[in-house]
Amino acid sequence: MNQYHPTVTQFVIESSVAESIAQSMNLPSVLHLLPHLVNSAQSLARPPISNYHVGAVGLGSDGRIFVGVNLEFPGLPLHHSVHAEQFLLTNLAVHRCPRLLSVAVSAAPCGHCRQFFQELRHSSSLQILVTDDDESAPDFKPLSKFLPHPFGPHDLLDQETPLLLEQHDNGLDLLPQNDEYINDNSDNLSNGDENCGNLINGNFGKYEQNETLLREAALEAANNAHAPYSGCPSGVALMDCEGKVYKGSYVESAAFNPSFGPVQAALVAYVASGGGGYERIVAAALVEEESPKVRQEDTARLLLKAISPKCVFQVFYCGKCV
Ligand SMILES: [Zn+2]
Repeated sequence: MNQYHPTVTQFVIESSVAESIAQSMNLPSVLHLLPHLVNSAQSLARPPISNYHVGAVGLGSDGRIFVGVNLEFPGLPLHHSVHAEQFLLTNLAVHRCPRLLSVAVSAAPCGHCRQFFQELRHSSSLQILVTDDDESAPDFKPLSKFLPHPFGPHDLLDQETPLLLEQHDNGLDLLPQNDEYINDNSDNLSNGDENCGNLINGNFGKYEQNETLLREAALEAANNAHAPYSGCPSGVALMDCEGKVYKGSYVESAAFNPSFGPVQAALVAYVASGGGGYERIVAAALVEEESPKVRQEDTARLLLKAISPKCVFQVFYCGKCV
């Protein structure tokens, strides 16, 4: 194998750029480039608990290359962590790539991630290469080799139900916004971080302008959520201290536990866009139904409080459009 490893600095590589890198390395195709990017991708991981850096580099059906890394959050239970493969799939969803063809990953996918991949249509044919395999020339193998006899969406859903990365429209709209429908954590408004670009500190006007943007982004994320098992879609939008907005849609797994929360999904969008420290996140909005069977509000608040204690957090309730 060619030992040259190009440096990955971005989480999405356009197809033309990927092709020219592959050509410059005399590789037969972009597919062969994936394992060469894994080392560099690992350096983008944020695992302050394990210090174990995972990088997953995937080829989308539109020719773009997507990067996934693991994220860990000190002060919280481990199940809040983001696995590199979950990051990767969320990165494709954020950038509206309809299908993941192949993945090169630094270590064998854990059981949790093998299960999470099951949410893709044609999951059994997804090609996976593990770069730390002992083999002299590791090769791509289908997911069915990693997870034979799987349990998945086919056990619970009909063929017509959209799966992960397929187009979703959950038909949600915000309920009338009176106090009854807004859970406003605005006590935090006066405690903005002085190092955080003054979006909120003494600048409530700008916050109010951006609040609408944030709420609409969270609604759009909820409408794109993959929640066929509970029927409880939700979405989160985060805003950084420059006013940039990042959306994340909730994703369920047929096996429930590998499900991926909307705050984590929005954090993927934040990190993948080159977002810096989490303390730069100054505002967050969650959209979900008022009394769902699966409720995100409390766990979302917990996660946001741990990573950006002064972040303003609001919950907006939604319902099905009639
Ligand atoms: Zn995993």
